[in-house]
Amino acid sequence: MTVLVTGGAGYIGSHTVLELLQAEQNVLVLDNFSNSSSESLKRVKELTNKTVTLIEGDIRDKALLETLFTQHSIDSVIHFAGLKAVGESTEIPLDYYENNVWGTINLLQVMKQFNVFKFVFSSSATVYGDPQTVPIKENFPLSATNPYGRSKLMVEDICRDLAASDSNWKIALLRYFNPVGAHESGRIGEDPNGIPNNLLPFIAQVAIGKREALAVFGDDYDTVDGTGVRDYIHVVDLANGHLKALAHLAKQNGCVAYSLGTGKGYSVLEMVKAFEKASDRPVPYKIVARRPGDIACCYADASFAKEVLSWTATRNLEQMMKDSWRWQSNNPEGYKK
Ligand code: NAD
Ligand code: UDP
Repeated sequence: MTVLVTGGAGYIGSHTVLELLQAEQNVLVLDNFSNSSSESLKRVKELTNKTVTLIEGDIRDKALLETLFTQHSIDSVIHFAGLKAVGESTEIPLDYYENNVWGTINLLQVMKQFNVFKFVFSSSATVYGDPQTVPIKENFPLSATNPYGRSKLMVEDICRDLAASDSNWKIALLRYFNPVGAHESGRIGEDPNGIPNNLLPFIAQVAIGKREALAVFGDDYDTVDGTGVRDYIHVVDLANGHLKALAHLAKQNGCVAYSLGTGKGYSVLEMVKAFEKASDRPVPYKIVARRPGDIACCYADASFAKEVLSWTATRNLEQMMKDSWRWQSNNPEGYKK
């Protein structure tokens, strides 16, 4: 039996493919390389000494999906493929809805056509909007403030409707908090295009000297030091959450959402300090205005995933920072060199 992994050449996908291969699963990856290259999976093959079939193509291409489901004995899908930049989503919302919503509908239609009902979806903590309290539980109200977040919420709603319409479906909605870090080998990691939007890759590029200083978006939030607090989770822990969710689907009924986080929040300045320590490099920063749409504080109550999936994040902040730095310093140009 084969797991189809869409977007498997990307940041979280490549780490998950590695863990799947190490768990002796057959893996088929479909990726259009719009935000990745085949180099990540070449390195995954080297690290695991295992093979993975990689198809260059798009989830919006129904004929291609039908061919893949005909040619391979796919029995489950982990769906990472999509666009993920919040700012960009406000500029080109149609592209986001087309890739993330329509692309997913296309995939679900072909799954149904081939009687494949096990589906693990990359959702995001962004669906909790601006929570009234923390830690955040799965049953908190859902909302979205930008097209990216709305595309995730729409797919969640589609999945809930689908599972309600047909009891064959077994769907895990994995709401990631803030994935950071890299595989401990330093061979695979996050390779953002252009100027990074996210905090950790930006800090790493300042530490290596590619960028002058970090702009800290606001120091007047109601948090420990006034800067934003997030629940950062090591990408390998996150990858393992997918294996646990996939294994649990056999016992699961319908559509269930899980928060994948550590349950602990760190401020931007705490992240800067921790990175300086791990890299032994200074990370100069300046305080600037708040970023529109940002919230003060966001961290998970991770107890549901622990209870139901027997999954818990095991890597601490020090390890996240060390692994980020190893990846950044060994690959200053990402996969390009
Ligand atoms: P990524 O951009 O590294 O990976 C996404 C992959 O999907 C890329 O390899 C890209 O080439 C591919 N892709 C995009 N559109 C495609 C299409 N139409 N057909 C085929 N392939 C396509 O991103 P990531 O950080 O690994 O995120 C994976 C998923 O997790 C995304 O759905 C993202 O929205 C979600 N997510 C990410 C984060 C985060 O902070 N990284 C947080 C929450 C949720
Ligand atoms: N942040 C920052 N400077 C940056 C990028 C991010 O100060 O260049 C802050 C941001 O305001 C938030 C935290 O770092 O408080 C995490 O931001 P990121 O974009 O990585 O994740 P998200 O906001 O989606 O949780």
